[in-house]
Amino acid sequence: MSGYDYDLFVIGAGSGGVRAARMSAGYGARVAIAEERYLGGTCVNVGCIPKKLFVYASHFAGEFRDAAGYGWTVGLASFDWDTLIDNKNKEISRLNGIYERLLSDAGADLIRGRAVITDPHTVAVNGTEYTARHILVATGGWPNVPDIAGRDHVVTSNEAFYLDSLPGRVAIVGGGYIAVEFAGIFNGLGVDTTLVYRGPLFLRGFDYDLREFLAEELRKKGIDLLFETTVDRVEKHGHEYSVHLLSDEERPLHPEPRTVDLVMYATGRKPLTEELGLEEAGVELDINGAIIVNDEYQSSTPSIYAIGDVTDRFNLTPVATAEGTVLARNLFAGQSQRLDYEGIPTCVFSQPNLGTVGLTEKAARERYADVDVYKTSFRPLKLTLTGSEEKTFMKILVDRATDRVVGVHMIGPEAGEIIQGMAIAMKAGVTKSQFDATIGIHPTSAEEFVTMREPAR
Ligand code: FAD
Ligand code: NDP
Repeated sequence: MSGYDYDLFVIGAGSGGVRAARMSAGYGARVAIAEERYLGGTCVNVGCIPKKLFVYASHFAGEFRDAAGYGWTVGLASFDWDTLIDNKNKEISRLNGIYERLLSDAGADLIRGRAVITDPHTVAVNGTEYTARHILVATGGWPNVPDIAGRDHVVTSNEAFYLDSLPGRVAIVGGGYIAVEFAGIFNGLGVDTTLVYRGPLFLRGFDYDLREFLAEELRKKGIDLLFETTVDRVEKHGHEYSVHLLSDEERPLHPEPRTVDLVMYATGRKPLTEELGLEEAGVELDINGAIIVNDEYQSSTPSIYAIGDVTDRFNLTPVATAEGTVLARNLFAGQSQRLDYEGIPTCVFSQPNLGTVGLTEKAARERYADVDVYKTSFRPLKLTLTGSEEKTFMKILVDRATDRVVGVHMIGPEAGEIIQGMAIAMKAGVTKSQFDATIGIHPTSAEEFVTMREPAR
């Protein structure tokens, strides 16, 4: 390996890059990692962590309301946005410090600045060139806002984490994870919230029953869901914005535009691959700018690898970190592992949560000849003494030929926590008979997963 400054040069100290750098250094490799913005990447700074803190913040209003049914009188509750932002920022600074220590303790050199690849074995940062046997691109992604009139007036999730004040009214455009999660956050914090989605039902790609059920729950909570609606233009009038909406290209849906204090676009993310020297180094990109890799994360240029969101496959933190682990083991610990991408559990931190693992009913029916569908919905015990109309939904999909459970889905409080356990069982090849043979924990919502006996379909 001599002849190069480093064995591995990582570009991007986010979820995937930090994991790959730490583990590779732990195996004895000489590692450098470049970061131009913040340690910990999207997840720590403008993603999972601050988002979940905001979700927690927005839960309290409902909890205060529900407490009355249990005999509590809660004094006049008020919310201070600045306190939330200050405390969130302090926590993120603490996490940034932890990431820095993790890298230095592992013996990786952290280089602050924007990195550019100048040839298949060379990276330049701040005018200095470093050579490396392997280069790993882990630059993540960035919000993508379509080219609408008034684009300059809208914010994305990046800015939503640092707003100067909480808006009174918000319009969120998009129907994916971020739009749905932020609709719940703003609504919970008392903001008049409208979600605008171009298709007939949001969360495309998730199980249809889940999508329908969640739409109903969000409407009950007062979120205005406008489906089959697009934005024609956004205009700024003083401190307000007019969002002009269309139901199709010709016909305005509302004679009057929506007037809001904030317009947030959550219309997907794009891999950060521009002006990185990739094309010049012979690295092939797909039509969306994602780096194309083989199942060892190697690009079309053998010395250049890529993991995480920059490959635009499963854009989730645990996937990026798992890829970093596998890459480090394969490059520096003599292993030849392959990550299993089947059955990746995921949770939309909506209110209530949507947790899911395995196939949707549609995908299960395409793959298996006979699929048994078990479903239940009920009012969670905790809410029975309150005026809350919120309901929980659960669904299990079973391949009848083998009795294997091929999908488990839930909408309800802590669905993310519950589905994580289900994902382990599914990895182990659990059958429906084994669900049935499992004793429930009473009284919980999760016990319903082991007491559903009769298929609904
Ligand atoms: P990133 O974490 O984005 O890291 C890339 C790093 O590279 C960044 O720090 C960037 O500054 C740096 N960089 C880029 N270009 C250069 C360059 N040229 N030179 C030097 N440095 C560079 N996932 C979940 O699993 N659960 C969640 O709840 C969740 N919530 C999310 C909420 C939001 C609002 C968003 C936006 C994302 C969320 N995600 C969530 C997705 C998750 O954040 C990403 O999948 C994950 O961060 C990807 O990790 P990564 O290492 O590929 O990239
Ligand atoms: P998503 O890909 O999840 O959703 C994008 C949404 O924007 C879709 O509803 C899409 O519609 C819509 N859209 C795309 N282009 C346009 C357009 N030109 N005009 C109008 N609407 C458009 O992206 P997000 O930005 O919500 O999140 C990015 C990724 O980050 C997620 O996919 C996920 O991998 C990750 N993430 C994970 C979270 C978690 O694990 N809890 C939380 C947040 C993010 P259509 O469906 O019709 O294409």
